[in-house]
Amino acid sequence: MSKLKVVTIDGPSGVGKSTVSRKVAAGLGWTYLDTGAMYRAVGVQCQRAGIELTDKAALAVLLERLDLQLLPPLHEGDDVRVLLNGEEISAAIRSPEAGMLASQVSAIPAVRAKLTALQQAMGKAGEIVAEGRDTGTFVFPAAAWKFYLDAPPEERCRRRAGQLRAKGQPVDEQALLAQIIERDRNDCERAVAPLRMADDAVLIDAAKLTADEVAEKMLAFIERDLQQ
Ligand code: C5P
Repeated sequence: MSKLKVVTIDGPSGVGKSTVSRKVAAGLGWTYLDTGAMYRAVGVQCQRAGIELTDKAALAVLLERLDLQLLPPLHEGDDVRVLLNGEEISAAIRSPEAGMLASQVSAIPAVRAKLTALQQAMGKAGEIVAEGRDTGTFVFPAAAWKFYLDAPPEERCRRRAGQLRAKGQPVDEQALLAQIIERDRNDCERAVAPLRMADDAVLIDAAKLTADEVAEKMLAFIERDLQQ
């Protein structure tokens, strides 16, 4: 299997993957692929359309008609912009509720099949930094550089609360911790593409390092290989 010029960064919710992925993508001049944003968009769309997640026929129609576009942010350091059927839903997908919806739809095999195919098409030409739960294990098993970021739920909760507060959103830390633990459980226990570290991934303890330090570590690793 020849290696793809792709970096994968996986790990649980709130571990700092997005910040680190953006920094690594910027450092390499490659494209950042936020796969979580795609699951969030599908979750929000199901809710808006009033689709029961057990209604396979309705879900199939929604997925068939899905018109999802990821655009670079307007300001450096912001999240990617997401257009769903032409409508910008960038803010709507970032709430904790949208995270829970994403976690629910992400366990549905048809949703995973559709989004995995879209992600693989986006990464076909290489020079992509893909971030998510299964990018190293299922989406890009042939990626040349795979990383897995981890930190305890309490630490991840503390960080996420800080991010939400910085955006002016109210935070109930206990509820947030419960959501993080529930999302961990959903992500790790689902039958299709559960969250786990790829056998050939490098494990990084995010609790002990800043985002800059993690990104520098990854970049050093990748650039050393690129120069060989
Ligand atoms: O990373 P983010 O918090 O935006 O992801 C939202 C949810 O989408 C996750 O909790 C997870 O359930 C799902 N997801 C996934 N596979 C990915 C990316 C996200 O199942 N590759």
